[in-house]
Amino acid sequence: MSKSFYNLIDNEVSQIVEDNLFKDERFIASPQQASIKLADGKDVLNFCANDYLGLANNELVKKAAAESINTDGFGMASVRFICGTHDLHRQLEKKLSHFLGYEDAILYVACFDANGGLFEPLFSKEDAIISDALNHASIIDGIRLCKAQRYRYEHSNMVSLEECLQKATENQARHVVIATDGVFSMDGTYAKLDEIYELAQKYNALIMVDDCHATGFVGKSGKGTPEHFGLEGKIDILTGTLGKALGGASGGFVCAKENVVQLLKQRSRPYLFSNALSPSIVKATLQALEIIENEPDRRQRIKENTAYFRKNMKQLGFTLKGDSHPITPVMFGDAETAQKMSAALLDCGLYAVGFFYPVVPKGEARIRLQLTSEHTRDQINEALKIFEKVGKDLKVI
Ligand SMILES: *Cc1c(COP(=O)(O)O)cnc(C)c1O
Repeated sequence: MSKSFYNLIDNEVSQIVEDNLFKDERFIASPQQASIKLADGKDVLNFCANDYLGLANNELVKKAAAESINTDGFGMASVRFICGTHDLHRQLEKKLSHFLGYEDAILYVACFDANGGLFEPLFSKEDAIISDALNHASIIDGIRLCKAQRYRYEHSNMVSLEECLQKATENQARHVVIATDGVFSMDGTYAKLDEIYELAQKYNALIMVDDCHATGFVGKSGKGTPEHFGLEGKIDILTGTLGKALGGASGGFVCAKENVVQLLKQRSRPYLFSNALSPSIVKATLQALEIIENEPDRRQRIKENTAYFRKNMKQLGFTLKGDSHPITPVMFGDAETAQKMSAALLDCGLYAVGFFYPVVPKGEARIRLQLTSEHTRDQINEALKIFEKVGKDLKVI
């Protein structure tokens, strides 16, 4: 219809391609796991899935999902409050909140929705939200949808956070909430939750943590970043995903006090106006949580794999970001190098995707690798060998 509209879109897409920022999707033709088959028939090692505990293709998890499709059907065809609440939804809300140490939980079809629908019902213009500059897009969007005063502190900078807390106090904010990722997904670093907690105490602020890259495998028993810092039960609101370590299908949740969950169930828009999670995903996630509770060795393995891989990558001369988390960003600077590196790695049998603007700042392009508990030592050694070869070929080491 409007020629100028389509021309504008064409130009914008062409510009993305020209800037080496175009994201090409590759097609996988096997289940998600440490070694995958691509649609062109090539077998490759996979080092970029969020399948931290190898539950995406786990036999028990799959069996739970398959059985549930037979007994509970495929879809709910309703939002939760009409006729979409299956007994399994309630079981999972209870199990998640119990496991993570909260009074209650509310499920969403994605954590993007959990974060997107969290702030608006709980905070209004009398209140203040203080957000880390590197928070996930879904937190940023959720805050945008809320009328509260907004403050942004420099990433993990406690001086900057305290300045925001002071400003919010001066502006007589009724309630103040500090919002942060538990683990920053692009960097593999932990929020300084211990220091954030101290400041929250000092200024009587609430804390909201998005623990998508931690639930199930960070902390001694997999309870995430609060457990990692010895702060179980002290974080007011915890959000997380079912789409990463908990089987990797889809779904998100908010854990909080019972009355907070009650209000969200009344007012949170992505919950009220979007279909309920498929019962098979819910049943399989219940199974995934059983495995997480009963098989601590998975957490041990992911720790060992991470330490081994990081140590050897550094020895090869690569620049890594992050600390002990299985997210291992290998830094290249410009997007073109990251793109070339990623393509050459794939040619050699290693699936590892480049990240560049707008998902990371300009000039900080990287390949983000993720270890899982199910990578074997042989697979890790093979990945290191491929990295060494490609790194030398492209003269980045
Ligand atoms: C992946 C992720 C999300 C989104 O989770 P989905 O369930 O996939 O929507 C939100 N926050 C963070 C920090 C994430 O890493």
